[in-house]
Amino acid sequence: MTRGPEGPPPDDSSRPAEQVFRGIGVSPGIAIGPVVVLDPRGMRLPPRRIAADAVPAEVARLASALAAAAAEGAQAEAEARERLGPQYAEILAAHAAMIGDPQLAADARERIERRRISAEHAVIEVLEGLAGRLEGLSDSHLAARAADVRDIEARIVDQLAGARAPSFQDDLAAPSVVLAHDLTPSDAAQLDPRKVLGFATEAGGRASHTAIVAAALEIPAVAGAGTLLGHARSARLAVVDGESGLIVLDPAPATLDRYRAAAEARTARFRTLSEEAALPAVTLDGVEVGLHANIEFVDEAAACARWGAAGIGLYRTEFLYLRSTAPPTEEEQFAAYAEAVRSLQGRPVVIRTLDLGADKLASHVGGIGAEANPALGLRSLRYSLRRPEVFRTQIRAVLRAAALGDVRILLPMVTTLDELRRARDLIGEVAAALRAEGTPHREAPPLGAMVEVPATALMADRFAKEVDFFSIGTNDLIQYTLAVDRTNEAVADLYSAADPAVLRLIARVVEAAAARGIPCAVCGSMGGELLYTTFLLGLGVRELSMAPHQIPEVRRLIRGVSLEQARAIAAEALTLDTAREVVALLEDALRPAPTGAPAG
Ligand code: PEP
Ligand code: MG
Repeated sequence: MTRGPEGPPPDDSSRPAEQVFRGIGVSPGIAIGPVVVLDPRGMRLPPRRIAADAVPAEVARLASALAAAAAEGAQAEAEARERLGPQYAEILAAHAAMIGDPQLAADARERIERRRISAEHAVIEVLEGLAGRLEGLSDSHLAARAADVRDIEARIVDQLAGARAPSFQDDLAAPSVVLAHDLTPSDAAQLDPRKVLGFATEAGGRASHTAIVAAALEIPAVAGAGTLLGHARSARLAVVDGESGLIVLDPAPATLDRYRAAAEARTARFRTLSEEAALPAVTLDGVEVGLHANIEFVDEAAACARWGAAGIGLYRTEFLYLRSTAPPTEEEQFAAYAEAVRSLQGRPVVIRTLDLGADKLASHVGGIGAEANPALGLRSLRYSLRRPEVFRTQIRAVLRAAALGDVRILLPMVTTLDELRRARDLIGEVAAALRAEGTPHREAPPLGAMVEVPATALMADRFAKEVDFFSIGTNDLIQYTLAVDRTNEAVADLYSAADPAVLRLIARVVEAAAARGIPCAVCGSMGGELLYTTFLLGLGVRELSMAPHQIPEVRRLIRGVSLEQARAIAAEALTLDTAREVVALLEDALRPAPTGAPAG
């Protein structure tokens, strides 16, 4: 295998050279298929073609995006005039005039009709042509206008994105491997595993929500691969290996054979594991561990049954928002929660209230503006408390579904006791309203707090007195403890569940829960990683929640360890200084004992 685009020339001149790129494996499995490249704005290159009968709709999209961008430009001009004076306003007035130029509309329209390309590409072609011509001029003042043209281009394309282009998946000719600069969680929520065999992105980190969705949909994925698209445009076939984080473009025949064999072996391994779905997750010395499933979409409930989940440990309900074009109504939410409860047939369903914000934003989610530090901004429970009408609608649906089975409510990103109490009061008010109306509901289902912020872990003894259970969200707990953005590939190497600071916080929370006699689950990605299973068990965690397909391997591991071994490993891990030492210890513990070793 050659490494990157600089490898030696191919031996067969008709076959492109194999190129290998390394990123972060975020959703396991191997995908092999034809390549589709999305450009940084999410459009296919070469331009997305549209069907003949879709031309009028595309022209209409163009017209409304131009009108909206012109209105936005006029407003920006008026604001600039008031705040900054006429000099700045003139620049924006020129922008607005350019957007409103009938020639631009005519040129873009002509491209859509004649060449049947998307409105986005038509606009980009027209304005990139103009920007290129300006840049070529010797007059430096005019050449600088190219930046204005690109600004306008971005405004119009943003409007088109807001007007929601049909998904790129709709016109994939065959199931494909998608390569993109980045995919938002809402892009990922639309992915159809029958059409997208796997994907790789240049950006993105280990615990991004896009990665979580990929794992939920069982789509192999690699994130944070760096500059990939420039090399991929002429590639025909790609392999995405979500385990090792490798992307192979135009694999050589021997490479392809190797990956095909690995994919088959993986399928066979999972077939065997699925036969163990009915076995209990008990240690060698008889301690039972609850293995629950994290779901984002209600249709994953089938996978919970297939892999033998003891319940749903985390239902990320915000994906109801991210998958649709309008906020879901109370009835739509009730239908989804009720279906989850029915599918689980009496087993518990932990419904997490909305965790919107940060990277989980849909265009229709109101009230969250552009933020410099969205992970520290208006997200999650903070958002729900700021928009009580949104929260109440959700809680009404949850309490109604709770009348149908074992529903528990989990509050995300709880940071202070005040927030917890306010949320509890609001839930009480909603229950009182349902009671007054005579609507069937459950009055006060168990209420839990996610522990995802160091402040909450530090105050765990106090929180333990006021909640029915804890669920540790390690994805955010790591991000906030180590000050490492979970979605940023540039610092992905610093993001580690094995950091001693993270381990100590987890130990503290587990201890506080045990002292109070309340359950403490781990539902962040750490909960499904085999490397940490024994450690968590040894700390005293008896409930893990993970992507459904991770359950069988974790079950198998638990059935092969004793609590005594687990306690020794946890105790030793807590004495170590660095994440590297912790990983070395845990990897060593995972290694099978050498066969043929002398007994005794
Ligand atoms: C977490 O932060 O660990 C968690 C489970 O929540 P999410 O990944 O949805 O932020
Ligand atoms: Mg979280």
